[in-house]
Amino acid sequence: LLLTVGGVTLFGAGLGGLFLASRALLPARLAFTRQQRFIADASHELRTPLTLMRADAEVLLRGRKQMEEDDAALLEDIISEANHMSVLATNMLMLARLDAGAQHLEQEVVSLDTLTLQGVQRVSAFATQKGIIVQREHTDDIFVIGDPMQLEQTMLIILDNAIKYNRSGGQVTVRTAVDHGQARLEVVDTGIGIGAEHLSHLGERFYRVDKARSREAGGTGLGLSIAQRIIAVHNGTLTLNSALNQGTTVTILLPLAHSIPAQSENSTSKN
Ligand code: ADP
Repeated sequence: LLLTVGGVTLFGAGLGGLFLASRALLPARLAFTRQQRFIADASHELRTPLTLMRADAEVLLRGRKQMEEDDAALLEDIISEANHMSVLATNMLMLARLDAGAQHLEQEVVSLDTLTLQGVQRVSAFATQKGIIVQREHTDDIFVIGDPMQLEQTMLIILDNAIKYNRSGGQVTVRTAVDHGQARLEVVDTGIGIGAEHLSHLGERFYRVDKARSREAGGTGLGLSIAQRIIAVHNGTLTLNSALNQGTTVTILLPLAHSIPAQSENSTSKN
């Protein structure tokens, strides 16, 4: 007998045991939900004052001609930090919603061809600026079911990392294929790579191999966690393979569109 309660799987010999187990878990689950809601609300609440703060600093900076250069530099710092905190708050809100299952998930047919093409187009200016070539290996189109915006966000997080943690003259290759009845999307980079001792920590929120480099590049240390959660709610997996100084491969596996049965009324799975 197997019962899934909001992602926690309980095994039990009989219904009585299961009932007790799920009742015992209830207070912990409620506290967890409350905590998630608090994080979501706090992130949401932070965004307004941050926007106002940034707007004020921008108004002051308009008078830069009458200002000491050091004061103008301080205002620029305030704007840059407020921007960073806004991205952080947005990312925390997104993660809290994904964790709580509160993020609405569209169920559309998504073409991996379109997804990768749009992703590559959107990062092309950034790639050019960093001296990195991004290419797509074309195959027959592959289709998955999911939320186009969320999958696009995942694509952008992975591509952004592949460019950010790369060196001038480096490459990023995006490949798609059908692998053992699943859709596979791979982003391979020839960048700085990740040491083995760090790889197992990358699932942890806010974990960054090089904090200064991540911050300088506008990172928050939440991108991979968001990408991983999005792929998990799409019933897929996201894995990273890397070799220090050689590069990193991110592999996403997702169910193929035609392999997903139509939702039946008594379906019990939930995420
Ligand atoms: P960040 O906002 O810092 O980029 P992420 O959650 O996206 O946060 O990634 C976590 C850390 O994983 C990064 O700070 C970086 O150290 C490492 N990382 C992610 N992708 C790559 C990559 N393609 N190559 C090298 N390191 C990477």
